[in-house]
Amino acid sequence: MIWKPIQKDPESYSKRPNLLDYAKTAAAFSWETVRSELDGLPGGGGLNIAHEAVDRHADGGLWDHVALQWLCSDGTSRAFTYGELKKQTSRFANVLDGLGIGKGDTVCALAGRIPELYIAALGTLKNTSVFCPLFSAFGPEPIYQRLSKGDAKILLTTHGYYRRKVEQLMDRLPLLKHVLLVDVADHPDNGLLSLPKLMAAASDTYVIPPTDPEDIALLHFTSGTTGMPKGALHAHNAVLTHYLTGRYVMDFHPDDVFWCTADPGWVTGTSYGIISPLLHGITNVVDEADFDAGRWCDILAKRKVSVWYTAPTAIRRLMRMGIEPARAYDLHHLRVIHSVGEPLNPEAVVWGVKAMGMPIHDNWWQTETGGIMIANFPAMEIRPGSMGRPLPGIESAIVRRVAKDAVKVIEAPDVQGELALRPGWPSMFRGYLHDEARYRKCFVGGWYLTGDLAKRDADGYFWFVGRADDIIKTAGHMVGPFEVESTLMEHPAVAEAGVVGKPDPLMGEVVKAFVTLKPGFAPGDALRLEIIGFARKKLGSAVAPKEIEFTPDLPKNKAGKIMRRLLKARELGLPEGDLSTLEDSR
Ligand code: ATP
Ligand code: MG
Repeated sequence: MIWKPIQKDPESYSKRPNLLDYAKTAAAFSWETVRSELDGLPGGGGLNIAHEAVDRHADGGLWDHVALQWLCSDGTSRAFTYGELKKQTSRFANVLDGLGIGKGDTVCALAGRIPELYIAALGTLKNTSVFCPLFSAFGPEPIYQRLSKGDAKILLTTHGYYRRKVEQLMDRLPLLKHVLLVDVADHPDNGLLSLPKLMAAASDTYVIPPTDPEDIALLHFTSGTTGMPKGALHAHNAVLTHYLTGRYVMDFHPDDVFWCTADPGWVTGTSYGIISPLLHGITNVVDEADFDAGRWCDILAKRKVSVWYTAPTAIRRLMRMGIEPARAYDLHHLRVIHSVGEPLNPEAVVWGVKAMGMPIHDNWWQTETGGIMIANFPAMEIRPGSMGRPLPGIESAIVRRVAKDAVKVIEAPDVQGELALRPGWPSMFRGYLHDEARYRKCFVGGWYLTGDLAKRDADGYFWFVGRADDIIKTAGHMVGPFEVESTLMEHPAVAEAGVVGKPDPLMGEVVKAFVTLKPGFAPGDALRLEIIGFARKKLGSAVAPKEIEFTPDLPKNKAGKIMRRLLKARELGLPEGDLSTLEDSR
């Protein structure tokens, strides 16, 4: 199906979008101007993310404005103003000082979405040590890998997680100096400390030490979709990207209420779940509970969320349930919806118009890029299925490798190649932890190669094709799984699809689809043939799946992404590789 572009009249938004003229803004862009809109530390002390996110607002007229609106899973809630956040994060920075933790030391957090985690993240940045969040659903081994690889000196966690997941690892973690427990009143022993007790004794004022924009601020592990997770290092200078994307992509305006559903265990949950909204002095909603359609719609309505950032898995779940939130809930505060993490099927963009009252804006980035790089901006025409256009200040291209150390930019539109970015944007990762060689391999011929395949159309919109590792080579064609999956999802019975290449002596590979069905549909040969026929009609027989296997669930990692490498390994009876980020099957 050819999906019609969606154009919203910029005047129809309750607040005029910040980016109205894309071409003019991109042409006049300079990172120096973005920098000049931030404070910098007093007295020329450099650039520190936490100062820009918290202290400058607390001291600049927003002391009583709600910074974090925390929703506890038991139904209660708690608001933290910018003033309170300033004091609490200063206390945490003093706690770290008192423990001898400073510039460059790694502070990890293993906790759910609780206030202490947000305070620790920002307090760690104040103290100029390096914050590294760990997803709380990890088991002991992935936790061990990250703590040891990250040379963690401090771990913040709960008593329960400590007993169940960490205590057994302590002998193997000689560098870990202290574990701070958020929910015990007294220090259990020397290395194990009560965070409330330390916080109560610490001063709530703190002078942020000089911070070079190149000082490392964050350590984020990738999602492990294609293999072993990599540790990406980010500098304080990343704050420029966090700020700019907040303005142009998220379209933050004063008094906005923002909700990012990602967990801070992943880069989205930190760059956008903590930093970006606070940089704009708005209210950031944090929900402790996991996905629940009713609860989520309630939050959007009752908390008057105006900008929402979520992921394709969540959107597909809402679609599968057949609910139309815009009908049943008062969503009139909601202005923009964004999605990231996986390709967003065009069907989902259009579903947004009907069910949410507005299209869903897809955007693309990676742990390595530190912030959004390509986006559908609110005032721009949306082309369903496209990731949008590059952020002003970002140069991106489709390239082809022509030698080990050279690439060629593909100028012609609609030609598939590797998505590349011109290095040097502020939130570009500064290294893979302990893997300099791998880091260097990402940069070829003056470009950063993303490992994703895409196309660019004549108007500069980028279209995701698939991860380089997932591309299927069948009878001389290169087939991207995303296109096949999106088409399958247009069939009324299909809820989700994961498509892989299955080796075949004649064709090289054949396209095989794993499909989950919507409620009310039962697997069977008739339905299988019907879906294959449906896909053939739309995609042609070269690209349509030759095989369909119905499955109750698709394997996903804890970031919610379909793990095609696992579908393929299982299909071929090969070793399943690193499963530390695999979501538990429910
Ligand atoms: P790993 O690198 O360990 O395999 P990962 O690549 O899934 O894991 P992330 O950095 O969290 O780890 O994810 C970035 C990747 O997610 C991108 O390179 C891309 O493949 C995919 N992605 C993110 N957003 C989009 C999007 N809007 N459209 C298509 N793909 C996307
Ligand atoms: Mg990746």
